Amino acid sequence: MTKQEIKGLFMSRGAELCGIASIDRFQDAPAGFHPLDVLPTCKSVISFACRFPAGCLSCKTDVPYTLIRNTLTPKMDRIAVECCIELEKAGILAVPVPTNDSRFDDSTGRFRSIVSQKHAAQAAGLGTIGRHSLLITPELGSMVWLGCVLTELELEPDELKEAVCDDCGLCVSACPINALKCPEMNQRTCWDHAFGDYEGTWQIHCHRCRDICPYNLGAWNVGMKR
Ligand code: SF4
Ligand code: SF4
Repeated sequence: MTKQEIKGLFMSRGAELCGIASIDRFQDAPAGFHPLDVLPTCKSVISFACRFPAGCLSCKTDVPYTLIRNTLTPKMDRIAVECCIELEKAGILAVPVPTNDSRFDDSTGRFRSIVSQKHAAQAAGLGTIGRHSLLITPELGSMVWLGCVLTELELEPDELKEAVCDDCGLCVSACPINALKCPEMNQRTCWDHAFGDYEGTWQIHCHRCRDICPYNLGAWNVGMKR
């Protein structure tokens, strides 16, 4: 399969953005969370994104935002698994990375996916990570949900995007519990504040850093308020 055919496969399953990273772009991955720690023969990482409907940012309740998150997570995993099956049928070994997997990394005291979805997306040229620690894409801003697949097929990597975050500090000031004070987000503080039970159901209570960023919507969210 060609690179374009592989991207077409992901698009046909529902992805809106898809990019390729070569394995050499993961030199800075933390020990134990490198693609080679998952698939020792990995040569390329295929990252893809689906739209996170931006209307939820205008709501007075976090129920729609939480519903979107909970709906997109299994969708990304389904796309990843289905594409791995199709790649395998074509004789290409590929494995999915869970979209919202979180395991504790003792060395840094953080929860991490087996491979960082955001860093994979950045390495695959989908966008760049801003000060708020979210991926910003030109097309959909930070209103994306991410998935990725590791493969031993060597593919030509896509061009990296130029960073758009200008460190304006709006997200840092907007955070009610100062979780963005240091360059690396205080994950535990953020998660304790932003996620949890509310009125009997698990919800995401806080996304202020996403809401306030001037780059949160992207060129494809035409007509949406900034
Ligand atoms: S989600 Fe809320 S608590 Fe977490 S970093 Fe953003 S503004 Fe701060
Ligand atoms: S609000 Fe400003 S500092 Fe924060 S991510 Fe957006 S551009 Fe960067």
